[in-house]
Amino acid sequence: MKAESVAQFAEEQKKHNMAKNSGSTSCQQCGYCCLQQPCVPEPGEFEAIARFLGMEPAELAQKYTVVNEDKKGYFLLWIRETQGDIAGKYIPYYRTYDRGYCVFFDKENHECKIHSVRPKSAKSSVCWENPTITYNGIWPVHEIQKLLPDFDPNGGKYVYKTNEIGLPCKVRVA
Ligand code: SF4
Ligand code: SF4
Repeated sequence: MKAESVAQFAEEQKKHNMAKNSGSTSCQQCGYCCLQQPCVPEPGEFEAIARFLGMEPAELAQKYTVVNEDKKGYFLLWIRETQGDIAGKYIPYYRTYDRGYCVFFDKENHECKIHSVRPKSAKSSVCWENPTITYNGIWPVHEIQKLLPDFDPNGGKYVYKTNEIGLPCKVRVA
């Protein structure tokens, strides 16, 4: 699945007018960033984004985020346009390979609908400088639970999968 995903993103790069491919050092608003990896809002950024959208933070989390985790902890990220059915939930491993732009990317006008309050992880997505998108949005569990009371960090099911270097790793699937 990972290899297939890498190949598909390589194809998508060709379809997007990425600054790094044209020698530009300014964003061309091609949207590739928003397709490859929706932003990861940090805890301190969330309230301002909710206010901008005229929502309570909990409504924003329930409608437009999923919970994911990495070795450092849990974080929220925006759903993709294809992930409305899992909004407000822990993202199953297989859904991390979903296709689709970030729910806040306006495909018609090629712009971010929350541009003025977008997370730092978006601001650091400059393809001509960074080959990969970075984020530092680990959330304390109690902060996630304030927004998503049903989130249970111990409630998942885990399976062992083989990672990209051939080692078994524990992956939460639900
Ligand atoms: S920074 Fe992202 S949106 Fe801007 S040109 Fe590069 S890939 Fe496209
Ligand atoms: S919040 Fe804006 S910049 Fe970030 S992924 Fe979504 S559309 Fe792109």
